[in-house]
Amino acid sequence: MTQGQIKDLRVIVGEEDCFEDKAHLSAYCYDATKERKYPECVVFPHNEEEVSRILQYCNTHKIPIVPRGAGSGFTGGALAVNGGVVLALEKHMNQILEIDMENMVARVQPGVVNMQLQKAVEAVGLFYPPDPASEHYSTLGGNVSENAGGMRAAKYGITKDFVMALRAVLPNGDIIRAGKKTIKDVAGYNIAGILIASEGTLGVITEITLKLLSKPKYTKSAMGVFPSIQSAMNAVYKTMASGVTPVAMEFLDNLTIRAVEEKFHKGLPKEAGAILITEVDGNLEEEIAYQIQKVQEKFYENGASEFIVSSNQEEAANLWFARKNASPSITIYGSKKLNEDITVPRSKLPELLERISEVSKKYDVVIPCFGHTGDGNVHTNVMVDGSKEEELKKGYEAIEEIFKITVELGGTLSGEHGIGLSKAPFMNLAFSQEEMNLFRAIKKAFDPNNILNPGKMAL
Ligand SMILES: Cc1cc2nc3c(=O)[nH]c(=O)nc-3n(C[C@H](O)[C@H](O)[C@H](O)COP(=O)(O)OP(=O)(O)OC[C@H]3O[C@@H](n4cnc5c(N)ncnc54)[C@H](O)[C@@H]3O)c2cc1C
Repeated sequence: MTQGQIKDLRVIVGEEDCFEDKAHLSAYCYDATKERKYPECVVFPHNEEEVSRILQYCNTHKIPIVPRGAGSGFTGGALAVNGGVVLALEKHMNQILEIDMENMVARVQPGVVNMQLQKAVEAVGLFYPPDPASEHYSTLGGNVSENAGGMRAAKYGITKDFVMALRAVLPNGDIIRAGKKTIKDVAGYNIAGILIASEGTLGVITEITLKLLSKPKYTKSAMGVFPSIQSAMNAVYKTMASGVTPVAMEFLDNLTIRAVEEKFHKGLPKEAGAILITEVDGNLEEEIAYQIQKVQEKFYENGASEFIVSSNQEEAANLWFARKNASPSITIYGSKKLNEDITVPRSKLPELLERISEVSKKYDVVIPCFGHTGDGNVHTNVMVDGSKEEELKKGYEAIEEIFKITVELGGTLSGEHGIGLSKAPFMNLAFSQEEMNLFRAIKKAFDPNNILNPGKMAL
């Protein structure tokens, strides 16, 4: 970018919100992948109109521009691979615009942090369920752009299930509305549906209308100990079909259980094939008691050797400790974690995990797995010594094989984290040439000059 171009952007957002100094470029050059790609300029727009003027300017001058929320993405989506501008939305566009009690919706700017919304709606008795583990810092703009999911997905679904309408700015500066505050809306193409999970490649989301629910009064957590993954999964299937839908149904495999135990000494069952941690919710204490009793019955019927129920918040937190600390614990197996978030139909989980253990033997790498059994989303972690080129190579080969198995089982490369840069090389495993051509045609219709987040999703 030229100095003149940076000066022009400064005219749009003001002196205090357009930077090209080293400190700002460094602060906006990374995401959770820990890769670094430096932009040439960082701008902080104040409103939709400024976003529109910035995009129009970049489009005219063919300057790459990358929208960014909190930069917590796991696939390099917010990285400025071709330099240009990072459009940072978290600084000024971070207001909850409306909580509409009659229609039970919230209207927010994209830079609102997920937990900020959860707390605001809970204060008036409402509930926004999508709860990615990054809920304390990831933004709703980023959540929509990645279609983020969380532990409550088993019962409530993921971000897309709550998006009712969006406002967005297209790369040429045009401002569009997609969707309505109405539950029913079948007029026209579902443009909001195309923008969800588009990873900042089609438009910049400037306003989000989200569905809210009423907040259940009670929750209760429980943990079951199983001899094998298969028995744990049988318990999941039977519980889900029993008329009880737990809010969350998370699993840890044996390698993960051992890692957490080695690190934190919590008395976890180190010999167990798997543990399941679950939560139910409801508005009546009897309803909670019934659900827990049903889960217990299904767990024991399917081979659980132990079933522990929380009786207060502290005990619940204790039960969830292992799951919440799974990710930092498995580093005992290797300095570098190549983690993926593959997803298969729930019924295929045991086969997937069985085949992952064969991959582990074939490449001589440790692969602890944990995740969301309720929705078939597994965090597979190929652990290697990051300082050894050969180990890394082996690790990436193992990942490619895991992706192939996932697709073969009717699954997807990503249940939560998106494609970005990291998974772009594997898109051809999951999509045919015709499907990729369609993706590229959609990209071209929105962004003919390829200025918006170029280089992502193999587009
Ligand atoms: C410890 C940790 C735990 C995590 N747990 C989960 C989890 O449980 N579930 C889950 O789904 N993810 C999880 N993530 C991944 C990440 O937090 C999510 O993908 C999140 O939605 C990203 O939000 P963000 O604000 O950080 O977006 P960023 O990382 O800034 O951006 C992500 C993508 O969205 C685009 N984007 C951002 N804002 C906009 C906008 N307004 N308009 C258009 N495009 C935009 C960016 O260009 C980029 O492609 C986790 C990450 C970490 C570090």
